Amino acid sequence: MRIAVLSDVHSNLIALDAVLAHAGPVDEVWHLGDIVGYGPDPDGVVARLAEVTAVGVRGNHDAAALGGAEIEHFNPEARAAMEWTRGAISDDTRAWLATLPERRMEGDMTLVHGSPRDPIWEYLTTASAARGSFAALTTAHGLNGHTHVPAAFTLEADRISLLQPRDGESLSFTGTRTLLNPGSVGQPRDGDPAASYLILDPERQVATWHRVPYDIGTVQAAMREVGLPPRLAARLNHGR
Ligand code: ZN
Repeated sequence: MRIAVLSDVHSNLIALDAVLAHAGPVDEVWHLGDIVGYGPDPDGVVARLAEVTAVGVRGNHDAAALGGAEIEHFNPEARAAMEWTRGAISDDTRAWLATLPERRMEGDMTLVHGSPRDPIWEYLTTASAARGSFAALTTAHGLNGHTHVPAAFTLEADRISLLQPRDGESLSFTGTRTLLNPGSVGQPRDGDPAASYLILDPERQVATWHRVPYDIGTVQAAMREVGLPPRLAARLNHGR
């Protein structure tokens, strides 16, 4: 079984299409929220995810796009992009985002945006946060996004390990518990501008991370055209 796991697409349809093309035929598409915000094409991204019958969860940007108070915590550029997003999205997009739960169980996996103990806001970046999240999980494993950095925490005999996976790297997690982060499709922040995602085989218990270059210049031109903050466009070049 091949499941494409995507997170933090952030209204970047060109990056999403590059990832879907790279993944090829998959059995399912799962997403970990932050579908919208930052980028120029929220309706296009939601339409594509609906077309591939993606299932997933709500991120802080998705909640803000629906009018949530999450916007109060955004930095000025994220806030400007969110105000644009709120005015730009269609009723269909709004309705699709409104169906997303904060958590979703698929077999022995829990899908969240932030972390299992704080699904909207917590950045899962440290061993102690991972330990708290394993304690909060009601399934063996978790899938999370939000940091925009690909990662895997594993718990084996009370020891937490962190994997920072490279392009093409696989993790076999049989006999351990794991929290898998696919990185960000639409706005990577680990210094590599290529879109990031993972392929999960839940039966063989293997995850494989992939990086996919895409046409960043066309996305930046679309961002300029709709008046999104220039720094949000510029950062796509650097993956920061
Ligand atoms: Zn995000």
